[in-house]
Amino acid sequence: MENNDKNKRKKSFKFSRKKVCYFCINNIDEIDYKNTEVLSRFITERYKIVSRKASGVCAKHERKLSTSIKRARIMALLPFTINTKLKS
Ligand SMILES: [Zn+2]
Repeated sequence: MENNDKNKRKKSFKFSRKKVCYFCINNIDEIDYKNTEVLSRFITERYKIVSRKASGVCAKHERKLSTSIKRARIMALLPFTINTKLKS
């Protein structure tokens, strides 16, 4: 299906503005799960992990990032979801 492929390309054009991986730029190899300031850049307002396409993080760092975010959640540094406590 060549047509399908073309459509995909058009769609992904939206994302193709040059985004370089934040961690590569800053030479961060190990992502510290305690650094919530950085981690919070890569989660949505609903505390989901931002997709790689949207954040521009490379595959290598995306894996590390998701591990760090999960770790941070377990350490209660980041919430899993929005809970009622935050509403007040
Ligand atoms: Zn990277």
